[in-house]
Amino acid sequence: MADSIFIKIIKREIPAKIVYEDDSVIAIDDINPKAPVHVLIIPKIEFSNIYNINGSANSPLLGKLFDAVNKVADLKGCTDTGFRIVINNGRSAGQEVDHLHLHLLGGRTMNWPPG
Ligand code: 5GP
Repeated sequence: MADSIFIKIIKREIPAKIVYEDDSVIAIDDINPKAPVHVLIIPKIEFSNIYNINGSANSPLLGKLFDAVNKVADLKGCTDTGFRIVINNGRSAGQEVDHLHLHLLGGRTMNWPPG
């Protein structure tokens, strides 16, 4: 199977603006931002979507993902104002890249419901 775009970024085969990285997670600015702050927080291990993540077995990784959320929010100045976390799971939800990732959106007021 061909590497996902995110695996190529992790391997430094294509460039990205890296906001944060540790042994389990990479966070990059979205190439097509939907808000003044739009960061993709990506586990380095590829799960295509939520169905495949097996949360009980991978709880340490999920913990690291949410630790990364807090770090990215801090780095981007969103901790006090707030931010939104989105996972698009499946095509009708808008998932384009089949490598599970969190969108951190901030820097403006968010509408609810999102539409
Ligand atoms: P999804 O639609 O799968 O939830 O989110 C995929 C996101 O990846 C989109 O917001 C899209 O703009 C972003 N994206 C796609 N290709 C690239 C890329 O090459 N570099 C970066 N930084 N973001 C990308």
